[in-house]
Amino acid sequence: MSNDFDPRRYAPPRDRLAGRVILVTGASDGIGRAVALALAAHGATVALHGRSQRKLEKVYDAIVAAGGPQPALLPLDLEKAVAQDYDALADALQREFGRLDGLLHNASILGTRSPLVHFDVPTWCRVLHVNLTAAFALTQVCLPLLLESQDASVVYTTSSVGSRGRAYWGAYSVSKFGTEGLAQILADELENERNVRVNLVNPGAVRTSMRALAYPAEDYTRLATPDQVVPTYLWLLGPDSAGVSGRRFDCQS
Ligand code: NAP
Repeated sequence: MSNDFDPRRYAPPRDRLAGRVILVTGASDGIGRAVALALAAHGATVALHGRSQRKLEKVYDAIVAAGGPQPALLPLDLEKAVAQDYDALADALQREFGRLDGLLHNASILGTRSPLVHFDVPTWCRVLHVNLTAAFALTQVCLPLLLESQDASVVYTTSSVGSRGRAYWGAYSVSKFGTEGLAQILADELENERNVRVNLVNPGAVRTSMRALAYPAEDYTRLATPDQVVPTYLWLLGPDSAGVSGRRFDCQS
């Protein structure tokens, strides 16, 4: 990586990710959807995860209509999933593709924003489970396939409140602190596995349903669109970031 290279302006040739199989969680909407479409537009075969089969089918149709490689649909509600469901997902990847070269942990929920003193305990557990524990469980079942790849990339999604706590962000913030820890631990454990890298991405404020839930009154036209934050993800999930591991990237300045 040269000193003046900026992943935020990465613009690869159209077939740069050809041959790679990449699993994207939360690919049915928002940033995950935009990243999945961009990965496919650059030649990657995308395994689309989300909780709504209907929404995933729309992303599938958009990829096929644009001439991208045929994706796979992997619906799974991370709130309800049990060990066998994770194993079944990994088995489906093995059966369908026999490989995995990228894993983007993107699915998350906001929960509620409220002071800790009033924070609803079941909501706390749900947010920690979907945002953090599910990403850990998915990492665990996907690692054998990722380790078989010659060049695999695992990307976790954090947030500005994942490295500095802020009032009322409660469980969501803590889940992102946990995600940063998870990514750091995995990067350290895989330090000697030159073929698997692990990094964190902070998309910054992006015009999605989650952002609208967090800031209902804001003027959303001032926010970046999901497409505008895609370049950093494309770079991290593609071959041009080989050798980069244990780092955290901001998609916006
Ligand atoms: P979003 O538009 O709400 O999309 C979230 C995705 O996660 C959707 O595909 C959603 O599926 C999926 N998901 C939620 N709960 C799930 C569950 N129980 N099981 C399976 N899938 C589930 O959110 P976004 O704004 O694109 O956020 C994407 C990532 O960026 C998140 O990790 C978020 O924390 C992070 N982030 C976003 C911003 C921002 O400003 N937008 C800022 C910092 C970080 P459905 O379509 O079924 O709802």
